[in-house]
Amino acid sequence: MDAIIISVGNELTAGQTVDTNTAWLSQRLAEIGAHVTLHVTVADEVAPLEREIRRACELADVVLITGGLGHTEDDLTREALATVLGVGLELNERCLERIRAYFTQRQRPMPQANTGQAMFPIGSTPIDNTCGTAPGIRAAFGRATIYVMPGVPREMQVMYERDVGPELQGRAAGAVILARTIQTFGAGESEIGERIRDLMSRGRNPTVGTTAQQAVIGVRIHAAGAGRTEAEHLLERTAAEIKSRLGPLVFGEDDDTLWSVVTRQLIAAGKKLSTAESCTGGLIAASITDTPGSSACFIDGVVTYSNAAKTRLLAVPADLIAAHGAVSRPVAEAMAHNCRRLSGSDYAISVTGIAGPSGGTPEKPVGLVYIGLADGGRCDVHEVRLGSFLTRSEIRDRARKYALNLLRLRLMGR
Ligand code: AMP
Ligand code: MG
Repeated sequence: MDAIIISVGNELTAGQTVDTNTAWLSQRLAEIGAHVTLHVTVADEVAPLEREIRRACELADVVLITGGLGHTEDDLTREALATVLGVGLELNERCLERIRAYFTQRQRPMPQANTGQAMFPIGSTPIDNTCGTAPGIRAAFGRATIYVMPGVPREMQVMYERDVGPELQGRAAGAVILARTIQTFGAGESEIGERIRDLMSRGRNPTVGTTAQQAVIGVRIHAAGAGRTEAEHLLERTAAEIKSRLGPLVFGEDDDTLWSVVTRQLIAAGKKLSTAESCTGGLIAASITDTPGSSACFIDGVVTYSNAAKTRLLAVPADLIAAHGAVSRPVAEAMAHNCRRLSGSDYAISVTGIAGPSGGTPEKPVGLVYIGLADGGRCDVHEVRLGSFLTRSEIRDRARKYALNLLRLRLMGR
């Protein structure tokens, strides 16, 4: 089954919006063994749209189109499709009702323009949109089945998962390709590459490659199999091998983040966390509370940016700060220790460092960060030198990841 994806929109051809729909759909199609042969991006103009739809229908069995189903003047996909099919547009009463209901539910009047979204090329069928107003369109032309979906990524994704994907599943006879990313923290890309070099050799199935994203190194696996079961089996085997070689460097898979993993670990262990942050300015607390369910494990976090606040809110002795400086091992230790004591948590993380770009000295350069981790038994302080070549936001981001990774390892008993 050959497939072509057409994304529609002036914002895409103008380079203002990056086309993520095509990438997302291509991955889904690979998973069901469809062969994606072409990606096309077209502006909101009837003639080129018509031409590309026609051409795609000559070349592929399935044509997936996203965008241009809106209700404004510039949304012309349905008109172009009707022209290709050589038919007019007709009103679908059921769809109009659904669009009306969408507005009634939100207690808003329905703009007249939205009526246009209930117009369909004669002979085509609507595809329900469960999270927006514009229904999709299913049509047949020549050898191809055409699916038109909304441009809004979430609406498109829900429509694909709910209706389009299941319809295509089983039609494709090609290799099924499944992908997974093993997420790691604590080693560089070259060290990771060193340890799994043989798995990364060319021509191997599954293919294995690394990607680096702000100190998180992902190991990406693509497994091809004659069917889903075979691809799954190959994927599992390689994933298990990678995990065993990389050990505790591996913190999760796919969408896992250090904070989602730590939150899960804390909840599973029935433990509570509190944070005392200086240079990260609350990033750690924000990351943890970004994770659903964090109220079960997060007690409180303070941002003690000034020296006075460290003394007032965390009882860090002023003379300790005077003697060692705010960015120092003893201050990080006192912050973590006192934070845990004051909040009554099981674990406390503290961070104090120099995020730059100014404020560094030869002894205490930009990127120097002290991270404290206290539990009932001990309080460790790690000195981290993140490097002055990083930007301020990178230093803050890495300090947060480094701190959460320490907690992750501690929760694993390391
Ligand atoms: P439309 O369905 O054409 O009205 O698109 C609605 C919105 O969805 C656009 O304004 C874009 O912000 C977004 N969008 C449309 N197409 C894409 C795409 N291919 N990738 C990512 N976002 C898109
Ligand atoms: Mg548009």
